[in-house]
Amino acid sequence: MHTIYLDHAATTPMDPRVVEVMQPYFIDVAGNPSSFHTVGLRAKEAVTEARQTIARLLSAREDEILFTSGGTESDNLAVMGIVKAQRQAILSFCHSRAGGNPSDGSPGLRFATPEDDKKPHVMTSAIEHHAVLEPLLHLQKIGEIELTVLPVNREGLVAIKDVRTALKLSTVLVSIMFANNEIGTIEPIADIGREILAWRKEHITPYPLFHTDACQAAGAIELNVEKLHVDLLTMNGSKIYGPKGVGILYIRRGIKIEPLMRGGGQERNIRSGTENVPAIVGLAKAFELVQENRETENARLIKLRDRLAEGLLKIPKTRFNGHPTDRLPNCVNISFMDIEGEAAMLYLDAQGIMISTGSACASSSLDPSHVILATGLSYEAAHGSLRFSLGHSTTKEDVDFVIAVMPKIVERLRQMSPVNLDMKYFN
Ligand SMILES: *Cc1c(COP(=O)(O)O)cnc(C)c1O
Repeated sequence: MHTIYLDHAATTPMDPRVVEVMQPYFIDVAGNPSSFHTVGLRAKEAVTEARQTIARLLSAREDEILFTSGGTESDNLAVMGIVKAQRQAILSFCHSRAGGNPSDGSPGLRFATPEDDKKPHVMTSAIEHHAVLEPLLHLQKIGEIELTVLPVNREGLVAIKDVRTALKLSTVLVSIMFANNEIGTIEPIADIGREILAWRKEHITPYPLFHTDACQAAGAIELNVEKLHVDLLTMNGSKIYGPKGVGILYIRRGIKIEPLMRGGGQERNIRSGTENVPAIVGLAKAFELVQENRETENARLIKLRDRLAEGLLKIPKTRFNGHPTDRLPNCVNISFMDIEGEAAMLYLDAQGIMISTGSACASSSLDPSHVILATGLSYEAAHGSLRFSLGHSTTKEDVDFVIAVMPKIVERLRQMSPVNLDMKYFN
């Protein structure tokens, strides 16, 4: 049976060109970049070159790129590392401003709430990946931070005015994802960045720092840290046809961050552990390739994406999730009322079609997705939400096949749903 893989938001297969450039670093050039012999130095060179490539693509500097084990580690490092490293500094800063009537003309107490000098404040959105939400909820639970979770609208957008309203002198970090992994909505990161810059200027403060999780965006959108006005940015290999288990955290020069991992002092002491050389080489190549082909591939995918959405929305009692246009070119998320998403997923699997309910990481639990719920859908509707995420291998024939089989599957499942069974029983 022909496999139709429509789960690229969970992870992408690797681009053969990426596999090819990784190959030498498994056996022939398998040195440790910290070793001073020839093989070690060649491995080190490869890591340096990868860092240069990524820095160029992000419009960043080499020493601002840190290699990690993936999106999850980069997000955790951004959140935990910034809160820990900046805690004292921001509390002293709030304290100094709370003195009132500063002679240098900087704003005084009127900008601070009574809580402002007690705990660092962090702001995030309700639709973040668990790799951002969980560390933040943990820090909140152990009393380390005050947390604001911003709502999103029906289309999954964060409102810039909500960011502005929630900012305070004690806000140390704002973390808003670039593109959502379940509904594909693209957040106005550059606008939020500008808002934060304006706030810093107005209040004469280096805070808050601005982090974005760009794992899903990296394959489809230009990532320029200057244009986006971000201080920290997460991306990984597994969503851009690169290797799994490798990622980067961009950290703007001069920003202090506390390591999660201590040891041999690799990655400027911020991330100890022997570098995963083949994966790092592969990540750089993958990022280069997706960015090079971004515009042609986006145009191709958008056509397929819209064809698929249109076809599936002809099925009665369906609802589109996400933003109609400010959305990733490969993402279609639809709620099918009165069906169980997991059951539909298995029926599609039997037809060779691989899709996902909610996010892959969360789908081992049967709880509906926090993202779909945050867009205001009922628990029941959220349960019947399916994510189709397209990619390099997707063809028009694949899309048409899905459009052809889906109505039968939905009809079958609806007949089996408790609502209909009950009706039959009582008729
Ligand atoms: C996949 C993903 C992650 C996690 O990345 P890993 O490399 O699997 O740890 C984090 N954030 C987003 C938005 C993702 O899509």
